[in-house]
Amino acid sequence: MPDKEKILIVEDEEVIMMGLRENLAVAGYEVLEATTGTEGLEKGIKQRPDLILLDLMLPGMSGYEVCRELRDKGMHMPVIMLTARQEDFDKLHGFEMGADDYVTKPFSVEELLARVHANLMRGERRKDQSENFEFGNFILDMASRLLKKKNGSKVEDITLTKTEFDLLAYFCANEGKALSRDTVMNDVWGMEYYGTQRSLDSFVAALRHKIETDSSKPKHILTVHGVGYKFAS
Ligand code: CA
Repeated sequence: MPDKEKILIVEDEEVIMMGLRENLAVAGYEVLEATTGTEGLEKGIKQRPDLILLDLMLPGMSGYEVCRELRDKGMHMPVIMLTARQEDFDKLHGFEMGADDYVTKPFSVEELLARVHANLMRGERRKDQSENFEFGNFILDMASRLLKKKNGSKVEDITLTKTEFDLLAYFCANEGKALSRDTVMNDVWGMEYYGTQRSLDSFVAALRHKIETDSSKPKHILTVHGVGYKFAS
């Protein structure tokens, strides 16, 4: 039998932790627990769960900070933020800190399990996608999640945020296709993020700034008028 997939729950409310623990165990997952941000970060790094459910408001460190720290430490497992309606979760900030998805409390067990499953699948695809992409003078290194720029015999690392990296990897994997904004957002961020087209455009602008010689005349991330974007190597 294959090993059970490990899910780390980082949650300081005992009632919510209890519900999650039971439902995930019944669904066949191995459950790890942490009740503070610091503990969550430590277990996320040491125990390498396949997925993390991360509460936003935690004692000590916030969910945002835990997520960013995990990503800074090279952890790429899917992270689903658990947010409360009144907390006014800042989605974009969450994604920039490296979250993959979020659910709003109170959530149904079915919804949560569906999200967990979808994100585990996405995590698997991410692991499989180990081939690097090359375009222009750049290499997108999938294993280290770095963008490298060749400059003569030197190679320089270009810093990308998690969102920028995911977006660029997606463009590279779909080279030559005209991609609508909706398609890009669905595929890169999941179906939750429609309605944020302008922010997609701002991520594209940031990427162009980093990879185009002249970002007003892009050679890689091309605008397809009335549709969205097309990537050319
Ligand atoms: Ca909390």
